[in-house]
Amino acid sequence: MHRFKVTELGDHVFWLRDAEREHLVRVLRLSSGDAILGFDNSGREWLAEILKIEDNSVTCVMLEERQPHVEACSEVYLVAGLSKGEKLEWVIQKGTELGMYGFVPLRAKRSIMRLEGSKASERVERWQKIAREAAKQSHRVREPQIFGITDWEDIASVLPETTQWLIPYEEEKSQGLSQTLATLVSDKPIAILIGPEGGFDPSEVSYATEHLKAQSVSLGPRILRAETAALAALTITLAHWADLG
Ligand code: SAH
Repeated sequence: MHRFKVTELGDHVFWLRDAEREHLVRVLRLSSGDAILGFDNSGREWLAEILKIEDNSVTCVMLEERQPHVEACSEVYLVAGLSKGEKLEWVIQKGTELGMYGFVPLRAKRSIMRLEGSKASERVERWQKIAREAAKQSHRVREPQIFGITDWEDIASVLPETTQWLIPYEEEKSQGLSQTLATLVSDKPIAILIGPEGGFDPSEVSYATEHLKAQSVSLGPRILRAETAALAALTITLAHWADLG
């Protein structure tokens, strides 16, 4: 059954507009009476029937509410240095499938890609769309939030104050991610900082350890590409603290 992100929630009905309406009408060619699933990012999902299709919206009647256990019980964020090309798109798509809670693109010192102004906001919208599609595809009931492109100085204010920060760093030789995870607590968010292609500048690692109280961790003796490191760290964290695996 096709799943849609609810645009507006009413009493026993909901509406789909814009891209969701377009997808239902033009791509899937569904019509009144067809059954669909709707979700609204709150963890709930409804089995519903299409009541009417209009130029600006599709009205659906809720038949049954469900609370599927598909969302990871730990809030794990990825914070990744801006990288060239489509690498971050890939990380966002795969991270969403694995159960990532949110994603913060970071302007790192060695980020080659520089996105400013309208280019930056367009890119963030595109990333949000990728997360939405991936969330639907993997039957999640919440789409990960993609934050605006953030500078180091603002990073602490973007995520919850209680966030536990980890910074995988290839020069870290003493502490591994797995052993460090065991020292964290399950009811507070975890944020994993991953460098851009060229890695973090040592001054960025110091900033994270001083200002965010981040723990620097190793992902093992082999150097991973940034996108591999992001997904490996996310996988290990969700397997430890949530339901992956
Ligand atoms: N500076 C290096 C590698 C950068 S890898 C170089 O260019 O040769 C990109 C990012 O992936 C790093 O910033 C780090 O966050 C992460 N990473 C890759 N391999 C890692 C490892 N073995 N341990 C910890 N972090 C790693």
